[in-house]
Amino acid sequence: MAVDHGMCKNCGSLVVLDENNENCTCLFCNCVFPREEAIKLLENHENYSFPNEPNNTTTDVVQTDSVFENGRNEYSGDARIIEEHEVVNNENVIAGIVGAMLFSLVGGLLWFLLYQVNFFSSISGLVGVVCANFGYILFARKESKKGVVISIIAAVLSILIAWYLCLSLDCYYAFQTWYDNGQIDYTITYAQAVRIAYTFLAEPMIAGEYFKDLAIGLALCALGAFRYVKNSFGRSK
Ligand SMILES: [Zn+2]
Repeated sequence: MAVDHGMCKNCGSLVVLDENNENCTCLFCNCVFPREEAIKLLENHENYSFPNEPNNTTTDVVQTDSVFENGRNEYSGDARIIEEHEVVNNENVIAGIVGAMLFSLVGGLLWFLLYQVNFFSSISGLVGVVCANFGYILFARKESKKGVVISIIAAVLSILIAWYLCLSLDCYYAFQTWYDNGQIDYTITYAQAVRIAYTFLAEPMIAGEYFKDLAIGLALCALGAFRYVKNSFGRSK
């Protein structure tokens, strides 16, 4: 007779024994142990207390490894779930900064275009903050104080850049006009204009005009920011 019965030394269930295998495996708790023990236990288990370990690590043989590995896989599975959970809950600040910068460029571009057609370009300050905060939330996937602060910085930077590029373009056109009028015998490229445009601000008349524009633009930035600051900082009180 090739098969007999024994008792599991871990959970006390009946186990099927194979004569050709000196170990036996419990179908209920996966415990692997010598066949002889199972036979002895079935005959006499009155003074035996079953450990009832859920995953049997006390046993020997190959099965032990797979149980252990199984346990480890489950653990790393848990870790993965926790990580994903954290990613969902933690705003991605770096992505948020990128988003805020990208979208604040809308404000900068608007400034540049409106300035060229002599329209109230300062309004772009307001647009810039709104766009930057939208960009931050889109990329960081969370609304936060940090996001509001980053959005304001991004919008101000974009406005400053746009403002300076406008100044540079005016500078470029000024040289062009002077050349056309025969006042100077050379012209400059736009890239050169960008490099020297700040010298125009040394002239108080010119500086006054430009800084007034910039001040209004930044004031509108602040106005746009006020809404977010009030909402996001007020909420936490
Ligand atoms: Zn068992």
